[in-house]
Amino acid sequence: MFTKILIANRGEIACRVIQTARKLGIRTVAVYSDADRESMHVNMADEAVYLGPAPSRESYLVVEKVIAAALQTGAEAIHPGYGFLSENAEFCRRCEAENIIFIGPPVKAIEAMGSKSAAKEIMGAAGVPLVPGYHGEDQARDILKKSADDMGYPVLLKACAGGGGKGMRQVWSEAEFDEALNAAKRESMNSFNDDAMLVEKYLTQPRHVEIQVFCDNHGNAVHVFERDCSVQRRHQKVIEEAPAPGMDPALREAMGEAAICAAKAIDYAGAGTVEFLLDQDGSFYFMEMNTRLQVEHPVSEMISGQDLVEWQLRVAANETLPLSQDQLHIRGHAFEARIYAEDPEQDFLPVTGTLSFLQAPENSSHVRVDTGVRQGDEVSVYYDPMIAKLIVWDEDRDKALSRLTKALSEYRISGMTTNIEFLYNLASCAPFREAQLDTGFIEKHHSVIFHDNHQDVARDLPIAALYIVLTQAQAAEQQAQRSGDPSSPWHTNSAWRLNEAHTHCFELNFHEQVHAVTVEQISQGAGTRYRITTAEQSVDAQGTLLGNELVANINGYLSRATVASHDDSFSLYTQDSALTFKLAQPDLGESNDDTDPGGLLAPMNGTVVTLLVAPNQNVEKGEALMVMEAMKMEHTLRAPADGCVSAFYYQAGELVDGGSELLTFDATDKVESE
Ligand code: ADP
Repeated sequence: MFTKILIANRGEIACRVIQTARKLGIRTVAVYSDADRESMHVNMADEAVYLGPAPSRESYLVVEKVIAAALQTGAEAIHPGYGFLSENAEFCRRCEAENIIFIGPPVKAIEAMGSKSAAKEIMGAAGVPLVPGYHGEDQARDILKKSADDMGYPVLLKACAGGGGKGMRQVWSEAEFDEALNAAKRESMNSFNDDAMLVEKYLTQPRHVEIQVFCDNHGNAVHVFERDCSVQRRHQKVIEEAPAPGMDPALREAMGEAAICAAKAIDYAGAGTVEFLLDQDGSFYFMEMNTRLQVEHPVSEMISGQDLVEWQLRVAANETLPLSQDQLHIRGHAFEARIYAEDPEQDFLPVTGTLSFLQAPENSSHVRVDTGVRQGDEVSVYYDPMIAKLIVWDEDRDKALSRLTKALSEYRISGMTTNIEFLYNLASCAPFREAQLDTGFIEKHHSVIFHDNHQDVARDLPIAALYIVLTQAQAAEQQAQRSGDPSSPWHTNSAWRLNEAHTHCFELNFHEQVHAVTVEQISQGAGTRYRITTAEQSVDAQGTLLGNELVANINGYLSRATVASHDDSFSLYTQDSALTFKLAQPDLGESNDDTDPGGLLAPMNGTVVTLLVAPNQNVEKGEALMVMEAMKMEHTLRAPADGCVSAFYYQAGELVDGGSELLTFDATDKVESE
């Protein structure tokens, strides 16, 4: 086995490889760019070598810099991870030339699978079933068109050099052919500097099922079962699972054999994935082979109990495969959800920012989080915006799915928009629970996943309002305990003081919509009851809030929800959905005009964050005077006119009851007239 390896990657996969290397007693060398000086993978490694500026073209993708780092540190082998140089034949060759072991397949295998058309040629010859289509050299328009006409529409035009869904066009009829061909060619030329096309029968409702294969240098080959990766957005995977639902042993064996056959046809070694389209009728077709470890390998690890990175290292060190096919067994079911910094509402546009708060669900035998970032880290424009992979396991699919939704509801990320709620909504919707999977899943079930009909919002609005009320009651309770005075007006279990009106109105925003809520307290003491009225309903509500767990009793029906508060909003995870609400900010500045006694009132129960001016310091109208925080949302109180604050009644850190007078403000004209 090696004594030292270099990991030519960053983020979660670099951390993942370092973990296994450590377990095997292998020293690790990380590489990093300017953007990654303080990154987790750099801290985890035994040594680290600087590569260059943040853009990957100037750092992680520069073959010579990576090779030099390995030579400088005496690393015997390089693990390329996925992406970057992992499928780069030139890099693989350079490793060979320098006597560094490339932890991956032989260069010829990488080259053979580099072009989709060449790969199909090889696979067809080896007897692996192909999607019907044309993958010939002759690229004349008439030849391509005739092949499409002959196989019948719809067809899919694909760039031979393609990847990441680029250079791909569906053609639904003969009339659309020319326009689609021109567009696909242009896109392919722009992305890959090559416009060769292949034509495939377009399967309308296929599943993406892929087989994990492993080969060693001693003629052994096994498959570590299949993964279903049908749930995709923009032809990219979102949730993966293993085993594939509804897979019968005969089909598994047939696909496994075809995958091994594919690997053997190119003298494969190491970890590889053979991707198939599985049609409704059980026919399956070779799509492509990825000659590296895949992002979604953990689901295969969870159901097989194997460490696939360890297998990679053993094979690269010329050992035989740790297990034979009949020693491998499927145990239970696993899911992986990719947590991204992206906005599902904006067509999954990646977002950037600082992870101001990050708390992942706890790791256990059921929950695993593979990540490369910590709280305080940056998700930058330079690399993939994946924050983590959340992997869960249990005895069967239903139980594993419950683990997944629970773990998603426990994930706390502030500082940027993520796809966590989207994943939760996807994982909890009925079609996903029933495993009605195909590659069009997200588009097909868009309205369910995105709650376009707003029925769920109307249903859960009282629970969201109850959460607000209980948070405020808790703040009051804390204040009472601090004051230590049992006769203090804070010592009441209600959210409102006795001398205040027992009705409270506020607005909750869901996306762009404003929902008015009226809450009336209808009993006192333990188990305070409220009447919550929204546009759609009026309910009798009662609840308890323990940490992030809310138990709501709405008209006698008890349900449990988890709440995650973000910078200026909170997400409510109920059994069926995750909905994010924002409390509409009360307009403070204007409310003090005519009737104002000269003070400014606290909009709600909360804490004083900071005082921004000194007493008697002259300020202009609109200038910020102090900042209050409630529900993790900040409220800035501003000067209603030119003048000065003659007294502050609270200091930073103090809890304030909603409606309390916070300060006395003297407007200039008033001061002058006195
Ligand atoms: P890329 O390499 O660009 O990712 P792939 O060939 O791997 O492209 O295909 C990506 C996705 O496109 C598949 O997972 C599947 O959802 C869809 N796809 C590819 N070929 C077909 C086809 N013949 N019929 C229907 N869908 C297809």
